[in-house]
Amino acid sequence: MAKKAKYIYFFGRGKADGRGTMKDLLGGKGAGLAEMSRSGVPVPPGFTVTTEVCRLYYKSGRKFPPAAAREFKAAAAKLEKMIGKKLGDPKNPLLVSVRSGAKFSMPGMMDTILNLGLNDQTIQGLIQNSGNPRWAYDCYRRFVQMFGNTAMDLEKTDFEPVLEEKKKTLGVKMDADLSAEALQELVGRFKSIIKGKTGRPFPEDPFKQLEMARDAVFRSWMNDRAIYYRKQNDIPHDIGTAVNVQCMVFGNMGDDSATGVGFTRSPSNGEKVFYGEYLVNAQGEDVVAGIRTPHPIANLANDLPAAAKQLQEITTKLEKHYRDVQDFEFTIERGKLYMLQTRSGKRTAQAAVKVAVDMVHERLITKKEAVMRVDPVQVEQLLHPVFDPKAEKNVIAKGLPASPGASSGAAVFDADTAAEKGMKNGEAVILVRPETTPDDIHGMDAAKGILTARGGMTSHAAVVARGMGKCCVAGCESIRVDEHAKTFTAGSITVREGEWISLDGSTGEVMLGNLPTIEPALSGEFGTFMKWADEFRKLGVRANADIPRDAEVARGYGAEGIGLCRTEHMFFAEDRLPHMVAMIMAKTEEDRRAALEKLLPFQREDFKGLLRVMSPHPVTIRTLDPPLHEFLPKREELMVEIAKLESKGGGESGIAEKKRLLARVQELHEFNPMLGLRGCRLGILYPEITEMQSKAIFEAACELKKEGVKTLPEVMIPLVGFPGELQRQAEIVRTVAAEVMKSQGVEVEYLVGTMIEVPRAAIDAGEIAKTAEFFSFGTNDLTQMTLGFSRDDAGKIISHYLETGLFEKDPFATLDQDGVGGLIQLGVERGRKTKPKLKIGICGEHGGDPNSVKFCHQVGMNYVSCSPYRVPVARLAAAQAALGTSGYTSK
Ligand code: PEP
Ligand code: MG
Repeated sequence: MAKKAKYIYFFGRGKADGRGTMKDLLGGKGAGLAEMSRSGVPVPPGFTVTTEVCRLYYKSGRKFPPAAAREFKAAAAKLEKMIGKKLGDPKNPLLVSVRSGAKFSMPGMMDTILNLGLNDQTIQGLIQNSGNPRWAYDCYRRFVQMFGNTAMDLEKTDFEPVLEEKKKTLGVKMDADLSAEALQELVGRFKSIIKGKTGRPFPEDPFKQLEMARDAVFRSWMNDRAIYYRKQNDIPHDIGTAVNVQCMVFGNMGDDSATGVGFTRSPSNGEKVFYGEYLVNAQGEDVVAGIRTPHPIANLANDLPAAAKQLQEITTKLEKHYRDVQDFEFTIERGKLYMLQTRSGKRTAQAAVKVAVDMVHERLITKKEAVMRVDPVQVEQLLHPVFDPKAEKNVIAKGLPASPGASSGAAVFDADTAAEKGMKNGEAVILVRPETTPDDIHGMDAAKGILTARGGMTSHAAVVARGMGKCCVAGCESIRVDEHAKTFTAGSITVREGEWISLDGSTGEVMLGNLPTIEPALSGEFGTFMKWADEFRKLGVRANADIPRDAEVARGYGAEGIGLCRTEHMFFAEDRLPHMVAMIMAKTEEDRRAALEKLLPFQREDFKGLLRVMSPHPVTIRTLDPPLHEFLPKREELMVEIAKLESKGGGESGIAEKKRLLARVQELHEFNPMLGLRGCRLGILYPEITEMQSKAIFEAACELKKEGVKTLPEVMIPLVGFPGELQRQAEIVRTVAAEVMKSQGVEVEYLVGTMIEVPRAAIDAGEIAKTAEFFSFGTNDLTQMTLGFSRDDAGKIISHYLETGLFEKDPFATLDQDGVGGLIQLGVERGRKTKPKLKIGICGEHGGDPNSVKFCHQVGMNYVSCSPYRVPVARLAAAQAALGTSGYTSK
């Protein structure tokens, strides 16, 4: 007989049905609670409704499955028995929290309800038992408000103004200053708001409350911010969330009670210090929501010494047990400590690297594990610039250094404006808020940095910004944010919307203006970590670089050569462009050769620079592949200019010159320049161009050889589709190479190879490999041509495809493995059938994307090549690919 499905997992009092490994089913929070409970950690008892139930709930059109409903009822009864309190008992009521908890942490994105079980009868029991009516009504007020917002779909703004107004009328500032009577009245007001807005009364039956809260948590899986967060973090939409129902413990029962959150090591820089914050006499949401600024956890030893000591002992044990940094939540009720959650802590890239290295030294984890513990995408964050320390800083305020980095932008005061300006218009904006809530996520995503007036290091703003790798200054209490006037003030200074400010996420400084930045210095741990990664990887990692300065940066990041030098980029400089235009304008071979003659010395020097910086590593130099429209003025603009000159009269020679240019532009005009006179087609029509470039390459290599510099130029022919194209171009290269070496009297080693970026080339790779000494997959063009999507202007279509779920990833960023990947696989197989040792790499943008790097490893490429900043990303991704698992993500 098939085993009966189990929908509810109980935990508490030293036992648990589940374990820490069951995150798929119990979610991160549920698994953590089960494991803690098993290990004897004080955890308030409760039960977890599995993620499977959530999936069934959605499958059956948002209905709670009847079989699970029976188990749910029984679990509630079991909890009542264990605690010795009953839901709805007017004398001794059981109160519970109902909290979401998916497999991957989604901070603040879904719903939570606390103090559930209160009604007009049970409140009396709570007052009796606590002897504290003010506290009891505070719990009741919070519950009705939270329940209205989550289970009955009311807006925050339905309740908050009423609370504010009450405080104003009574002339008090803080919620805590409201009397029991005032709070009782608010409860009544809130209930009538619920009735008025929804037409349904606030449910007085606690079990009904419990069912409604449970279903609200399931519904919150599909709220806009949760969906957005999942898209941003590659979390599948169909895994669902668990619901944790847990006996309430109260951090707001007086000065011997507290609630807080913390990390066993700093999530900001990885230092091994106990790290966190707490509030005395408060409930959990006060800390996370950033409404009051909490105290650093070090102070807890003064306020509540016994609980502080126990907390440190338990969390140290948990870190050892899980062998990873723990992010925990706790509550102290009348001096007694309870743990509410433990999980792997989200951390910045800097912290991730430091923790991984430190834990190897502490013998907690192996080097292999350390390499798997850092998300390659995060590594890029480490390489971004910081503010130039020499720059003059006009510091106007200082907040908490919540997430490192340096960013400047125009101040904006709401998430929609940030999204509009930042995402749509590509402007640099800094989102300034009193505090952020999960509803602001789209604005945070679009902003360069985030500044909040309230909230601590673990407030929503800080946690989300760190996850995004975004600079954030939180809890900047000295500023006053006026959302309506769209300004903030810092002392006597007022900053209006659109005015530039700069944030330093590592110091917490807020500065006026747009400050210059410089390249970051990498820590010693980073070097150690990357060295370990290199020990495991099989793929070589090169950089795409066109000028010696970029090549130098790439070398610093560990590039082992250049995988693509786009020679056409060398002609954008002011002193070269006229010769390039002259070359394009030339009607005869003679004129063209004259223009090329002028370009030759520039090219030779460029190549010498590149080869020297990369010596003795290979440098792949691609012959010219210019979409010609990028070099010539636009047809329409020229027409307008001519018309203007003519209408003004005079300037005959100027007009004639412009007309000549227009005529040539007309001649060269192509309807689809990306499929036009590009790549090797240019060198085939005008062989003298390939001749000039080859001459520059080999003269550079020979001159360097005479200086004692070892080089390995690899001449690469672009956009080859037919074996004959490569043969013709390779012949020119080899002939010129022989001539130059002969005339210079030295020999240099070199290769001639091809890009594979036309689908035909991948299919005919076996023939092409007869001439090619290496292949480099140009996956930008290969994607464009395989998918029939223009890389220049498919953005709008692709965004729609992504938004509507037709694409999971942008195929120009992450390799389309089923389609383009199939061609690559074919190309590799056929190429190597002809030449088993054929050197094969990739130089499209995908070379720096961790997922694509993994694919390149799997198909047996020799190297990947990517932009200089992504070299460490690729090195780590290559190591993780070689270690063979999917890697660690900071989700
Ligand atoms: C490519 O097409 O993938 C490539 C690297 O070349 P480019 O981007 O210059 O066309
Ligand atoms: Mg290309």
